[in-house]
Amino acid sequence: MKIAILPGDGIGPEIMAEALKVLDALRRDGLKVEMESALVGGAAYDAYGHPLPAATLKLAEEADAVLFGAVGSPRHDALPREHRPEKAILGLRKECDFFANLRPATVFPELADASTLRAEVVAGLDLMIIRELTGDIYFGEPRGVSGEKGARIGINTMHYTEAQIRRIMHVGFRTARQRGKRLCSIDKMNVLEAMQLWRDIAIEIAPEYPDVELSHMLVDNAAMQLIRNPKQFDVMVAGNMFGDILSDEASMLTGSIGMLPSASLDTNGKGLYEPIHGSAPDIAGKDIANPLAQILSLGMMLRYTFNLVEWADRVDGAVKRTLAQGLRTADIAKAGEPVCSTSAMGAAVLRNL
Ligand code: NAD
Repeated sequence: MKIAILPGDGIGPEIMAEALKVLDALRRDGLKVEMESALVGGAAYDAYGHPLPAATLKLAEEADAVLFGAVGSPRHDALPREHRPEKAILGLRKECDFFANLRPATVFPELADASTLRAEVVAGLDLMIIRELTGDIYFGEPRGVSGEKGARIGINTMHYTEAQIRRIMHVGFRTARQRGKRLCSIDKMNVLEAMQLWRDIAIEIAPEYPDVELSHMLVDNAAMQLIRNPKQFDVMVAGNMFGDILSDEASMLTGSIGMLPSASLDTNGKGLYEPIHGSAPDIAGKDIANPLAQILSLGMMLRYTFNLVEWADRVDGAVKRTLAQGLRTADIAKAGEPVCSTSAMGAAVLRNL
């Protein structure tokens, strides 16, 4: 098993260093993985004149999984769009055909106070949202704005092929199988034909997964239920646009951007694993960033690409114990609570491993 390590910019290298300490400890315990690092984003642009140099792309293509930090910096914001650091992520997604985005929303009981919702509504939340990344209204044709001023028409087209729906549904069912065995498919079949096809295919595939309970929910209701009672869900699967909106909504249930990992997968389970947050230039270089989203991204990699459930449970368990012991970086500390550094948080996770 080979992992490509792409730390990126800003806090990326700082939080990646902590995740790599965890990975090193697992390797000492017998986990058989090779790893190789490369520059990506602004750091790669500075060294090679491109945010995703050919050597970095080749490393990612040849690896079984990619552990990604974050990219972007104010210094690179004035570059032409194709040279911006953020282009690296889009390039990796496209070249490696990562079509399934997995975003867990987990609320550790100790951090339930960080949510804007009442603690009892979110404490213990453990939800996974799966978003399709390659189809839908973001890519469908025809698109564009036409006509004279005063009579202009804006058009975008919701477009899904059967093959696109099938492959994301299979990811949904397989993920549910590894968790609480409940899959809720999100659509808008009451008004959109493309979403009727979405629902029909979900129903067609369901018999292949008799151990998973399939349900359906209209997206407007799902947006409401996520606020009303988010703990009713195990895995939700949605198209590109509905998944985009619902996954951001769900991440805010947790209240802390520094805690959430994510994965983007291809058909064979190869994946790119990264925190949902960006490179946080405002706190870079200060040893105060929260490394837990990066460490939990490593856990997701072990679980979803390598199917090493026990090793993944060890990583997640070490994070849980660290929080239970009261360690808090500034972003998750309550007013007046003592805060720890990035490296102290990483060291505590390592001890708890
Ligand atoms: P951001 O997620 O980097 O930061 C938003 C806020 O959250 C900041 O106040 C930051 O300090 C805080 N924060 C983020 N991660 C944290 C952590 N681990 N610990 C503690 N606090 C944390 O979003 P932004 O400020 O809008 O963007 C900064 C740069 O990151 C931009 O260049 C943007 O394009 C880029 N970006 C990259 C990715 C990615 O690499 N996938 C995603 C989003 C944004």
